[in-house]
Amino acid sequence: MGEVKEFLLQFLIASLPAFLFPLTNTMRLRRSFNDEAASADSIYRITLGFTLTCALSMILCSLFSPRLWGTLHLDFAILPLFALMLYSRMAEGVFLASLHLLLYPVLAVNPTFSGFILDTGLLLYPLVLFFSKSFYRSDRKGKVAILSLFFLIGELMIISSPYLMGTAKKETGLSLLAIAVLNIIFTIFISTLFVCMIEHTYEKEKLRMQVMQLSRNYFREAEKLQQMMDAAPLSIILLDRQGDIMTINETFIQLFRKFKPQARKEELIRSRLAPVMADLGFEVLIERAGQSLEEHIKTRELLQSGDKAYFTSTSPIKKGHTDETIGAVVIIQDITELETFRKELNHVERLSLVGQMAAGITHEIRNPMAVVRGFLQLMQEKSPPTLDNYYRIVMEELDRANSIINDFLSLAQNRSVRMELCSLHDIIRELTPLLWADANLRGQSIEVRLDDELPNLLLNQKEIKQLILNLGRNGMEAMGEKGELTIETRKRVDGVELSVKDQGPGIPAAERERLFEPFFTTKSQGTGLGLALCLSIVERHSGKISVQSEEGKGTMFTVFFPCPENVESWM
Ligand code: ADP
Ligand code: MG
Repeated sequence: MGEVKEFLLQFLIASLPAFLFPLTNTMRLRRSFNDEAASADSIYRITLGFTLTCALSMILCSLFSPRLWGTLHLDFAILPLFALMLYSRMAEGVFLASLHLLLYPVLAVNPTFSGFILDTGLLLYPLVLFFSKSFYRSDRKGKVAILSLFFLIGELMIISSPYLMGTAKKETGLSLLAIAVLNIIFTIFISTLFVCMIEHTYEKEKLRMQVMQLSRNYFREAEKLQQMMDAAPLSIILLDRQGDIMTINETFIQLFRKFKPQARKEELIRSRLAPVMADLGFEVLIERAGQSLEEHIKTRELLQSGDKAYFTSTSPIKKGHTDETIGAVVIIQDITELETFRKELNHVERLSLVGQMAAGITHEIRNPMAVVRGFLQLMQEKSPPTLDNYYRIVMEELDRANSIINDFLSLAQNRSVRMELCSLHDIIRELTPLLWADANLRGQSIEVRLDDELPNLLLNQKEIKQLILNLGRNGMEAMGEKGELTIETRKRVDGVELSVKDQGPGIPAAERERLFEPFFTTKSQGTGLGLALCLSIVERHSGKISVQSEEGKGTMFTVFFPCPENVESWM
């Protein structure tokens, strides 16, 4: 009976790490769950807790190891030792094995050298370490088989050591057999217990880890989806089967707040669609959403609310690939801007048609006007000189009308013109005498500053002359006597800048915005077409025109021409 007790005690102590394993391992896993980088594989790492419990169990086994019938040595210490050697990395295995060997002289009853070799299972260590890799790869049964085999061989070595060393008492022959059989049964049982406990814990934790990772991924995806919905410039509402709001996006909240500034997302979710849509004045959408839910159809509708226009659509949401409708999505798009744009485009199209017609008519007016002017000249010659003054006024007005027509025609004929590579300076030099003469008449002066390193540009000479003349004349008209007009060119990295600066009174900010509008003028004799023409010329040259003006100091118009290689090839 005493022998059985000893057996049980050894069995219990040896199986201690197996029972404690789930506890020591779970504590570590709890920590790794919070660690984002932890992967399902990392749970296979043996913990310090397991190493320590194995060490403890090994020491206790050796400490309480009995001599059955005064001869047979019963010591299960090698079980936790082998289990750790097989399950853990080399370092832990070698550590525990060394500990076992070191403690032998301390714990053994009669330590001898052959006892040291046989009772510690020393001969098996290299084999166990060698097999740890294939152990790691085998399934449960394989693991049980490997652990049992090593344990059994070790135990048999320990039991048979007194016989091998000749210290056994004769009468224990039969008991030896019984012990051997018992040993085999216990060995298989205890090895199975070890492997099962450890593997079960691993599998459970691995599963839990996978679930955690899955739910983490799920939440991340859901978050991404919500962010995507929020970023969309459409109001999106998801409904469940009953027509209750499940999800809404940020754009919808913004839209709803225009009608109910205090609205909160939490209040809108889970409420019914009908009152929410009624607040927005989109009652018709309640019906459409109902159609999507009940009749499984998609609907589209243009809605007007106040001065805003909305494009709305409702679609059913199907369950997987089945025909079962599990909800609906309502999308509201604010298309007010688009609508305005469309209307403006229509307007512009109509305007350009009117412009084309006007250009046609204006062109036709020029001919009769030329005839009228010719006859006027004839009549002037035949009339008394007292009427000369009237003739002069009539002809001046005719000339003015003609110049308006010319400006208008150049503006209206937005045709593409022929560009050639030429020097901007040549054009300016050609124009300078004309500008000088004009300035002289007004008592003003002109200063021309040209940058020597100016590259040639793709220009239409006639148009650039017109541009410089218009800007120059405006400047001169703005200045009083003694004013100075400065024409300057500058090389820039990607093009050339031409500026025309005057010392006039400047342009008030309110007028500055309208400068380039056709027919905008502040002059009684002005046409308001000069700058509009300049803008269209600059645009045809792929350039930019800007104005800087300070009231009381003067105005500077700056035109930028891109380098020829940056000008689009169709020009
Ligand atoms: P117009 O010269 O026939 O009035 P423009 O299109 O050339 O037509 O110019 C439009 C208006 O811009 C002018 O009436 C004037 O008020 C303003 N403007 C243009 N250039 C200058 C300038 N250099 N200084 C002050 N005002 C200017
Ligand atoms: Mg002008």
